Amino acid sequence: SKTWVLARHFEGFPEDSNFELKLEQQPEPKDGEVLLEALFLSVDPYMRPFSRLRVKEGGVMIGTQVAKVIQSNNSAFPIGCHVVGRCGWRTHTVSDGTGLTHLLSDWPQEVPMSLALGAIGMPGLTALYGLEEVLGLQAGDTLLVNAAAGAVGSTVGQIAKIKGCRVVGSTGSDAKVAYLKELGFDEAFNYKTVSSLEEVLKTASPDGYHCFFENVGGPFSSVAIPQMKEFGRIALCGGISTYNDTTPQTGPYPHLTMIFKQLKMEGFLVGRWEHKNQEALRRLMAWKREGKLQCREHVTEGFENMPAAFMGMLQGDNIGKAIVKV
Ligand code: NDP
Repeated sequence: SKTWVLARHFEGFPEDSNFELKLEQQPEPKDGEVLLEALFLSVDPYMRPFSRLRVKEGGVMIGTQVAKVIQSNNSAFPIGCHVVGRCGWRTHTVSDGTGLTHLLSDWPQEVPMSLALGAIGMPGLTALYGLEEVLGLQAGDTLLVNAAAGAVGSTVGQIAKIKGCRVVGSTGSDAKVAYLKELGFDEAFNYKTVSSLEEVLKTASPDGYHCFFENVGGPFSSVAIPQMKEFGRIALCGGISTYNDTTPQTGPYPHLTMIFKQLKMEGFLVGRWEHKNQEALRRLMAWKREGKLQCREHVTEGFENMPAAFMGMLQGDNIGKAIVKV
């Protein structure tokens, strides 16, 4: 069995030397335990900031995977069943079942199980809860979303279209802009090549934005917030433009604009609504089966390539959800 450990904490953008591949004896499950074999592993932005809090140097990198039970001494998880587990970057894991969830019981054959790490998993739930619980999205709203071609952003935009909204997306390449148009975004632009972000936001929605689903942070926010309508709502989901900073950002948020326009801004973590996950996953699956939710994946082959897949995602190589197939 193989694991990727965090050899030393990240300083700035991750490098190969932050990671070390370790070979270990295949673990044996005891009474009440199962042995899992990873099929797909997720690489996610949160791993960059959370690793400092959750992983000691020399410890296994944090992460979620879709795995198959290959040995079982636990009747809740028989041999052959598939689970989503927070096992870290490992090919094989012994677990007593804590933190494992079964895939939806009626997961359709034609839907790839890897989507349990993407649109029908944590990123999809993030999109849905951010829109419904935080923003209170209403038909007719105009929504701005950034990192729009990624796992969360592409799902945000599609759900907002299902709900009858106008959607504007910001993303980092022309190929991604074309993808957003394919998904039905009303407006999409490449933030790396626009001459003025302010102008492009004004042109895309001259009357401003009811809702802003914020994935990026940093200077983007400072330009986007003044484009909100009065009583606009902002969901602070992520700040990927700041995750590799060596000194923490201290703003500035255009806070007078926030006061004068009476904006509402709320940070959130997807785990807040865990008790609703099963029902929410069923809704995401239904949209997928009805052809209303496209779930593109950016697949890297080979467990050895976990660090490369992670760093590639952080620099925007992915269209859709970045995953690793073992
Ligand atoms: P993505 O699939 O969107 O991948 C990350 C993307 O971020 C890249 O593809 C890249 O796309 C973009 N990016 C990288 N650097 C920058 C930059 N400097 N400025 C702007 N964009 C950048 O990842 P996810 O969909 O998994 O996550 C999106 C956001 O949602 C992240 O901020 C993440 O932390 C957050 N999140 C929050 C959760 C919560 O509970 N609050 C749960 C899950 C995710 P591009 O080419 O467009 O630059």
